[in-house]
Amino acid sequence: MSSFDVVVVGAGAIGSSVAYHLTKKGFGVALVERGDVAGGTSGHCDAVALICDKKPGIDTQMGYESIQVFKQLAHDFSYDFEFHQPGSLYVCETEQELEVASEYVKQQQADGYDMHLVGNYEMQQMEPYLAKDLQGGIWTVPDSAMNPLKLCFAFVEESKKLGLKLFDHTKVVGIGRDEKGAVESVVTDKGKINTKTVINCAGVWAPELGKLVGIDIPIFPRKGTNLVSEKTTKICHQKVHEFGYMLSKFEDINFKRNVSDLVEKNNVAFAIEPTDADNFLIGGNREYKGFSIAPEIEVMRAIAERSIRFFPILKEVNMIRAYSGVRPYCVGHLPIVSEVEEVPGFWIAAGHEGDGISLSPITGKMVAQLMTGEKTDFDSDQLKFSRFKGKTFTGFEEE
Ligand SMILES: Cc1cc2nc3c(=O)[nH]c(=O)nc-3n(C[C@H](O)[C@H](O)[C@H](O)COP(=O)(O)OP(=O)(O)OC[C@H]3O[C@@H](n4cnc5c(N)ncnc54)[C@H](O)[C@@H]3O)c2cc1C
Repeated sequence: MSSFDVVVVGAGAIGSSVAYHLTKKGFGVALVERGDVAGGTSGHCDAVALICDKKPGIDTQMGYESIQVFKQLAHDFSYDFEFHQPGSLYVCETEQELEVASEYVKQQQADGYDMHLVGNYEMQQMEPYLAKDLQGGIWTVPDSAMNPLKLCFAFVEESKKLGLKLFDHTKVVGIGRDEKGAVESVVTDKGKINTKTVINCAGVWAPELGKLVGIDIPIFPRKGTNLVSEKTTKICHQKVHEFGYMLSKFEDINFKRNVSDLVEKNNVAFAIEPTDADNFLIGGNREYKGFSIAPEIEVMRAIAERSIRFFPILKEVNMIRAYSGVRPYCVGHLPIVSEVEEVPGFWIAAGHEGDGISLSPITGKMVAQLMTGEKTDFDSDQLKFSRFKGKTFTGFEEE
């Protein structure tokens, strides 16, 4: 199967972006995917790139810079991935929630982000179908949306123009190493590819590839489910979600919501977003249940219950299907973007949990910067695999 400067494993949002950014720098790149492009988590997710769902600091910084790269890509690519920047609305149900949200906004504003509190009246003007008894919310101007499947295909198709070779339906089963332990080839079920550099972009399956070189990668599957509505009236104009989303995503954010046992038990937090096709994606939840992506009826019920609380009109709308995916949750919540010191030539770009679509452009850019020795836009030390040195992980550890 010949030789390449770099072999990228996994054609989800991360791998396809990494492949694009490297081909653009002039590297000879092979992208190896065991199934179809976007067949993993990147084809079982929502469609937004937000800063309002990130923690203040590097998390938000990466989200914001990624949106800037998205804008450039939407301009440069001839493949349309439906990028647009409608903003997003967080809604708060209780006074306590609004207090926590206000503190969050203050921190983000102090860092210069265009995010502000809105009152109930303002929210009703924006979204007339919203429940009338809410306390207020957060309006975030830079927040964006796109079609995640088309995004992956856009990266791949644009990279092919620059010389990328895609090997789909090809599974990586081994990594060849020289006598010093450095990478010298990638072994697939269709043959061997010679290379000195392999980038593990296998998302939630990244630990399987890690095992091929004897390392433990602390990434675990965190399941989420969405309902898809029939085509219907314009229920909302951009992403609308409850601020309680932060509770379900981050374990160290605490406040009490007025929710039923069903909603609590299934860690459901309401979110809705329109698609270009006029269906609505309605979620969501987070739970550690292994790799199964079969949607569960109890979770669907809990999502339906919570969504009617915020948009009572949804009681009248039919859902046409549901789907689930597994987010690649990395211990500590930040992704891994670095070479692995003990295995020269083996890189990891994985573990983006609920942000892999959003952070795909900046991750690809960062890998290209690191590989060419350029200065990265962030202090990439926080994203190094070596931060886990000496630690062992046995299960779905949280923070
Ligand atoms: C319900 C839900 C909603 C979400 N909503 C959003 C959102 O709105 N915005 C956002 O930013 N993120 C969202 N996410 C998270 C996002 O989907 C993920 O972070 C992202 O898709 C991860 O991309 P990836 O490229 O790392 O992994 P994947 O897309 O899973 O790609 C990894 C690929 O590696 C391949 N692979 C694995 N092993 C091998 C092997 N041995 N050989 C060859 N190929 C291999 C797999 O087949 C797969 O295609 C959501 C996730 C879920 C579940």
